[in-house]
Amino acid sequence: MCLCVPLHAQTPHTVAQADVDRITRDAILIDTHDDVPSNTIDGYDIGTANLKAQTDLPRMRGFLGAEFFAVFVDASYVEGNHSANRTLQMIDTVTTDIIARYPHDFVFATTAEDIMQAHKDHKIAALMGIEGGHAIEDSLRLLRVYYALGVRYMTLTHFNTNDWADAQGDITDVKVHHHGGLTPFGKDVVREMNRLGMMVDVSHTADSTFNDVIATSTAPVIASHSSCRALDDNTRNMTDEMIRALAANGGTIQINFECAYLSQRYNDQAKPLMAKLMPRYAEAQKLADPAARQAAITAIFAESASIPPATLEDVVAQIDHAVQVGGIDHVGIGTDFDGSSCVPVGLDSYNKFPALTRALLEKGYGAKDIQKIYGGNILRVMRAVEKRAVELKSMPPLNSSVDKK
Ligand SMILES: [Zn+2]
Repeated sequence: MCLCVPLHAQTPHTVAQADVDRITRDAILIDTHDDVPSNTIDGYDIGTANLKAQTDLPRMRGFLGAEFFAVFVDASYVEGNHSANRTLQMIDTVTTDIIARYPHDFVFATTAEDIMQAHKDHKIAALMGIEGGHAIEDSLRLLRVYYALGVRYMTLTHFNTNDWADAQGDITDVKVHHHGGLTPFGKDVVREMNRLGMMVDVSHTADSTFNDVIATSTAPVIASHSSCRALDDNTRNMTDEMIRALAANGGTIQINFECAYLSQRYNDQAKPLMAKLMPRYAEAQKLADPAARQAAITAIFAESASIPPATLEDVVAQIDHAVQVGGIDHVGIGTDFDGSSCVPVGLDSYNKFPALTRALLEKGYGAKDIQKIYGGNILRVMRAVEKRAVELKSMPPLNSSVDKK
């Protein structure tokens, strides 16, 4: 619920750089989706300048309070049941190649309190979210193992529909059975996540899955990296109705900085190109040699560089729309850095956030509003999810099996 003055009714004003810096520094910036583990697993050193993407320690340090590193499991790992293997390797790259390698900068974190403590200690809290529900290989036991290893959210699908949840798009070439949302087992996955205290993430899921999640979850739900469909009708984005449902459920929409999700103009220009590139991207993901895979993906991303990117103003418009529809308490940041083929001009890494702070202040947002958007709202969701898990403590673990057709 937002009790503030309608933001669009306020007059733009000039803002002093000292205020911009102070407000940015005081807000705990929590990014709920960064794909740099897909690079560190192939040998990239996060302490060095990342020339091909957006995430590196020099640009995070001093600007970022907490990162949800994406434990991304590509759909190709479903073939031959290698998803769990990949999930564990991705978890290991976060703990070994990021946290253990730079212990003065990162600290392993799993709770809202851990994030607050890291902020006091001037460190970046490092958390994990699994991207792609196929990671659990249809087993609630694996879900529990991932929770025990520190995973605190799971995106129920990636672009691929799995055995229990529909995705918004499908890049696999196998014939997919669509369930019309979540299957009975899929609903148990959500219930078990509630019981454990793992946030349910609806980014990438089909609208039908979204509706089933909202009806099933007894804890707040997040869209970890999605923007607003009213401004850019990409189906990866949330409709106004979905944003309102997330707000009513106590959750958040975490605005994604990928150009194709920010800007209708970019999306329209990119669509034909993406239709051509997506199958090639799927093929590139299957390459066993890390260097060859990275080179193929970089080449694909480079091809999309011919289209003028989205801008900082597009990000501001997306945030503002989400606030107008869902309220100031239900919007956050999920950059999708290192997982995007295009990021906005003027907002291409964490060290550029002062520019976003300035733009939001000039639009009439106050320091408290910015604190909520940057991290306060997702902290509230985390606390609510943690509290719900305590309430459900007496509930026995679920052990249902997937209902395969
Ligand atoms: Zn994603």
